[in-house]
Amino acid sequence: MNTDKWLKRIASTSQQLAIRSLNSNVKLSVTGLSGAGKTTFVTGLVNQLLNASPSRLPLWDVAREGRLISVKQEPQPDFDVASFDYQGALQKLTNTPPQWPESTRNISQIRLAIKYRSNHPLWSALAKEQTLYLDITDYPGEWLLDLPMLNMDYRQWSLSMAQVLELSEPYAVSAFKTKLAGAAEQNASSDHELAQLSAKYRELLLTLKQDKGLSYLQPGRLLLPGELEGTPLVSFFPWLLEHPSVDDRNDALLYQKLETRYKRYRSEVVKRFYSDHFSHFDRQLVLVDCLSPLAKGQSEMQDTVKALTEIMQHFDYGERHWLKQIFIPKIDKLVIAASKADHVTYDQRHTLLALLDGMLIQSKQNALLKGSGVYTQVLASIRASEDAKVKHKGQTLSVIKGRPEGDELRNVFPGALPTNWQDQGFWQQGQFDFLQLQPQPLDNGKAEQLGIDALLQQLLGDKLI
Ligand code: GDP
Repeated sequence: MNTDKWLKRIASTSQQLAIRSLNSNVKLSVTGLSGAGKTTFVTGLVNQLLNASPSRLPLWDVAREGRLISVKQEPQPDFDVASFDYQGALQKLTNTPPQWPESTRNISQIRLAIKYRSNHPLWSALAKEQTLYLDITDYPGEWLLDLPMLNMDYRQWSLSMAQVLELSEPYAVSAFKTKLAGAAEQNASSDHELAQLSAKYRELLLTLKQDKGLSYLQPGRLLLPGELEGTPLVSFFPWLLEHPSVDDRNDALLYQKLETRYKRYRSEVVKRFYSDHFSHFDRQLVLVDCLSPLAKGQSEMQDTVKALTEIMQHFDYGERHWLKQIFIPKIDKLVIAASKADHVTYDQRHTLLALLDGMLIQSKQNALLKGSGVYTQVLASIRASEDAKVKHKGQTLSVIKGRPEGDELRNVFPGALPTNWQDQGFWQQGQFDFLQLQPQPLDNGKAEQLGIDALLQQLLGDKLI
């Protein structure tokens, strides 16, 4: 090979290496409690990205500046994680009448390749176009509520759960305790007996979730087991009776077995989620449905705030935080978004943001949440209403125009939000009305959004310069 060719080859190899380093990857994870809007968000986000244009996403710099070349779905990187079913979700939205996609019940993933032109002098001189691989992982926020279990032994955990349960549903709890006492008396401890008792405990948790709107319920995987459905790993429950003394432990077979399962759940389920998934995320979105608990009542709101505070512990990386003993966190940007903002009128969206900020006050006192890299905003992933105005008693009122479930397209005045969820005046008057809205028919396969462009700028703006 002559020198000229040799030099050219070196130049082209180093250029290729430079280009490869320009092709970056961001692992974005999306979480929130059941019903917070995760599936709808991922569906809406993918739909917006696949149909991106400057006019549809004006607050996303790369789109507004005309630098976005294309967005395509690519095979996902992790073969052991379920695929996010974007096509299935889109199918639901294009049904007549349109339906919301199925909610998140397990962890799932989707990868998009975002091709763009950099406006950075160095990158644009090296290559005409760059690619950002965006890996979106969606997982139930309930899984994060198990975190305190890592700091408690079986006895401590049982006592803490007994307190939560007995305060909320004493009658159903006493029925479960009677069953447990019967099983303990017979020293029943076969896998079958444990599975039956666990199923009863699960029913109890589901009642608390559905009837009382409670979220802070453990073990989280018993409610949303994903691939662990029916396995012994999720077949256990807290001991709600008097705990056997150290001398009696050897004979208490049921107690021993529950204690063993509790330990295995902590190491094989809770800890493993952190090492296999959580520790790899770069950026995190936490969705919060502030409106449904607000419409249900003060105790539901209290429970949501408690669960949210617990979830936020995951992003408090203060120097001595014990979570650091389990994994080294990578997340450098966190957005907490109030979902379903199309349920409130245009002039109430800033109040929704204030409400969310108020719900996070306790969490914000923690290290990372006080610092940079944490943002709050409101959004509607797939907008089901439009803003409208009506005349009422000589005044012009802001309303939303949408289809409440089982109803026709009409103007709705949902009411005013409080800026502070602890405002007693608001609870006494109970003014907020949360009517589920049906999705609107898509326009040529394209959904409408609110706030997704601002979110994209916040989460990816620095990666797309
Ligand atoms: P997940 O359990 O967190 O996956 O929640 P989903 O994404 O399934 O959302 C639960 C429900 O909230 C949906 O079925 C919709 O009724 C509603 N929802 C979610 N996102 C939006 C939104 O952007 N606008 C409106 N109007 N409703 C939404």
